[in-house]
Amino acid sequence: MTERIERALADLRARQAAGERMPCPRCGRDTMKAPIYTNALSREADGIYVCDACGTAEALKAFMKNPLPVSWWAMFRPEKGASHLKELPGTEAMDIVREQDMPILTEIFEQWSEEKPGADFEPYRLDAMSRCPGITQLWPDSFQALYETADGHLLIQFRRNPDGATTSRGFIVMR
Ligand SMILES: [Zn+2]
Repeated sequence: MTERIERALADLRARQAAGERMPCPRCGRDTMKAPIYTNALSREADGIYVCDACGTAEALKAFMKNPLPVSWWAMFRPEKGASHLKELPGTEAMDIVREQDMPILTEIFEQWSEEKPGADFEPYRLDAMSRCPGITQLWPDSFQALYETADGHLLIQFRRNPDGATTSRGFIVMR
């Protein structure tokens, strides 16, 4: 963990202890309950509270021995946000999704692909929806994500090649 991140977390811990209202530091959504200690205590960052959905996602990832690095938390992401995707034309939204969401979705897709048939998709859906807030729908089989944009929607599809590598394709659909 870098010094910048340690400092930011210490600052966040102090603000949470003081009862400041804030979005969830892990997913960036306005999902924190008051008072602060009724939220989930993070397993990924010591002494930090995160929202219930993130608490569940963290528990799953801890179980799979694959915690999310704190540097990937929403509070450390650049400002231009997935939450504004609905206001952007499809081509611009696609650039942001490719840069910010594709690596996350690829990781989740690959974990999901390792699951046994009949496994519960819900924890994976929660993880994807909390880390990629622009997603409006997510399907397990075949694995694909839908995003609303200002002029239509985006569809991102994932599949696994026979050699085990993941390929993804993005489609811009105009209304
Ligand atoms: Zn959260």
